[in-house]
Amino acid sequence: MERIRIDIRGVVQGVGFRPYVYGLAARLGLAGTVNNGPAGVRVEIEGPREALDAFLAALRESPPPLARIQEIAVISMASKGEAGFAIVPSECDGERTVLIAPDIATCNDCLRELDDPHDRRYRYPLINCVNCGPRYTIIRDVPYDRARTTMAEFAMCPACRTEYEDPANRRFHAEPTCCQECGPKVVLLDRNRQLIAGDDPIEEARRRIADGEIVAVKGIGGFHLACDATNAKAVRLLRARKHRDLKPFALMTRDLDAARAIAQISEEEARMLSRPERPILLLAKREGHGIAEEVAPRSASFGVMLPYTPLHHLLLAHPSGALVMTSGNLSDEPIAYANEDGFARLSDLADCFLVHDRAIHIRTDDSVARAILGTPRFLRRSRGYAPFPVRLPAPTRGHEWLAVGAELSNTICVTREGQAFLSHHLGDLENLAAYESFVQAVAHLERLLEVAPHGVACDLHPSYASTRFARHCGLPVTEVQHHHAHIASVLAETGRTDRVIGVAFDGMGWGSDGTAWGGEFLVCDLDGYERRAHLEPLPQPGGDATAKRPARMGYVYLREAFGERAGELAREILPALSHEECAVIDTVIERGVHCPMTSSMGRLFDAASALLGVCDVNTYHAQAPIELEAVAARAASEQGSYTASLGRSGEGAVTICATDILRSMVEDSRRGVDAAVCAARFHNAIALVTRDVCRRIREDTGLETAALSGGVFANAFLLERAVHLLEQDGFEVLLNALAPPGDGGICLGQAAVAAWRCACA
Ligand code: ZN
Ligand code: ZN
Ligand code: FE
Repeated sequence: MERIRIDIRGVVQGVGFRPYVYGLAARLGLAGTVNNGPAGVRVEIEGPREALDAFLAALRESPPPLARIQEIAVISMASKGEAGFAIVPSECDGERTVLIAPDIATCNDCLRELDDPHDRRYRYPLINCVNCGPRYTIIRDVPYDRARTTMAEFAMCPACRTEYEDPANRRFHAEPTCCQECGPKVVLLDRNRQLIAGDDPIEEARRRIADGEIVAVKGIGGFHLACDATNAKAVRLLRARKHRDLKPFALMTRDLDAARAIAQISEEEARMLSRPERPILLLAKREGHGIAEEVAPRSASFGVMLPYTPLHHLLLAHPSGALVMTSGNLSDEPIAYANEDGFARLSDLADCFLVHDRAIHIRTDDSVARAILGTPRFLRRSRGYAPFPVRLPAPTRGHEWLAVGAELSNTICVTREGQAFLSHHLGDLENLAAYESFVQAVAHLERLLEVAPHGVACDLHPSYASTRFARHCGLPVTEVQHHHAHIASVLAETGRTDRVIGVAFDGMGWGSDGTAWGGEFLVCDLDGYERRAHLEPLPQPGGDATAKRPARMGYVYLREAFGERAGELAREILPALSHEECAVIDTVIERGVHCPMTSSMGRLFDAASALLGVCDVNTYHAQAPIELEAVAARAASEQGSYTASLGRSGEGAVTICATDILRSMVEDSRRGVDAAVCAARFHNAIALVTRDVCRRIREDTGLETAALSGGVFANAFLLERAVHLLEQDGFEVLLNALAPPGDGGICLGQAAVAAWRCACA
């Protein structure tokens, strides 16, 4: 007989760990106890050596599906000669290192019950268990138990109570468990909040969707607006009501087969789509998809997700095409999530409301990802992932950080014991409602983690709302340059503490010289950086406003490339730009007023997109580059490229003359070369110059590792080619896989730098 104590850390509470341990011990004939402690799950167990080994092996190799084990510590103890195995009450003092689980899609066991006419939860739209259902979005406080969730208002019926208390039941301590007797109810209401009569609200909602209506559907983290994706009239109506012109709508299909009917899906992508986190995945459209053109106009792909709540499964149960499932909001506002808020803000957008009375405590948008180089890369990391942490390269014990992120696509994070806990997507902070949810998220995350940060990390940009918050929150401030933070996010994810060549391409970040950066090659580690190379800075007339008008940036490059002929060329290839507007830009640049300098790669992509006639106005973030990539993808096998000359700045950094690239591209285009070929050559040119500049820096420094980040690298065409060229040349390439390469990953980089500097100080 031997006895051991096992401490398991990670996401191990609220995921069915104790019943799993109980079942495993019973199968192996072991005696002992299991309980939830402040640091995770603790097991004390005794029996023959071989059985104990088998127990540990099972724990490591096949833990409960939702558990994410970070550490298993085993120590041996004196045998107590115990018989039987028991789940014992939780300990409640000491430090808390338990992780809160993200929200998880309905599991197969629950789906079977949902479909089984003999089950007492047959067709109950809020069915859940210890392996699935809402978590992060319903938790008000810790420790995680029903009383501290939005299910507290619902008293369990005797049948649910019995399951909840039975260690052998899969609903043992499933905190949100309920049934049609005791749980929240789903109802269908009209715009005036009047009940729409009928015995099956979900059936009725489906009938209305089939008739072309728009239905607001309450999900896990907020409201969706749903309509029939094959009905062009309904989709047009939704666009008009949402004030959304061109940005693609997400789709939800009944299952994987239905998704395959509208999009091309690799085996890898099929696995990503089916994962319990259920992200929206960007997938190439399939020929003859039958979806209304208005769903994703001018896009080569659809954003597709599979159902993730029982309500979704019931709504999509009958064979139909796909539903548009777009977030319930007016263009740039945050998603509506409370019922009151939903009615107030969506009653002009939806014809009726399919809602229930389980409250959402934390608004959480759908996550969006794209498979690039065999791995999902996040465009937005939110529902299903938040607040799961990323381990930092430096320990933080005793000195924790709040990192407040950037301005657009903001997320924040809080560190605890060497891990950075990333919030859900909070949106663009220039929007007041988004800023309010940012302030709430800071307080909420600190409460859930029981951390009072010792310092705050923020961007250098003086007018970001997040920076201003950091400067006024009363904590010592560490500023982290924007592109350094992008690269640091990759270093944090990959656990690297050495120096690398960081390639940060994005729309805009505040540089240490007060100008706008965005096409940067840094030599950096977690502590600091040197700016070794960048795009040659050009004027950006009108500053940030120009980000909405790619044609203006196109004209700036025309001036650089063709001098006096620019005006005449603009009339030919930039019809969106009037003669007067060109004259204003000329004046602004000559006088240098409202005309900051920028080395932004995002603006270069804007210019290329406008100059090829692809997109001259950005109606949503990064529209011109996204559409340019879609055009280039039509010439995916194109090998041609353009070359850029390299120079030196006054500070000794290598400068890249992107004007050379655009001059060749415009000449190609005017010779009648197809826009797709020109766009592909443009992408190839950026990939090539990336490799060439990395080579130069390697010659100077001996560094052989390149870390690529920044929003521009959400571009699969560019990223695949750049990585291929770099690897062919012997570079080791590091990329983001856990946090978005865009500004949604900035908080992670800030936290990593702040924690590292502090640990090394
Ligand atoms: Zn379940
Ligand atoms: Zn019940
Ligand atoms: Fe950025």
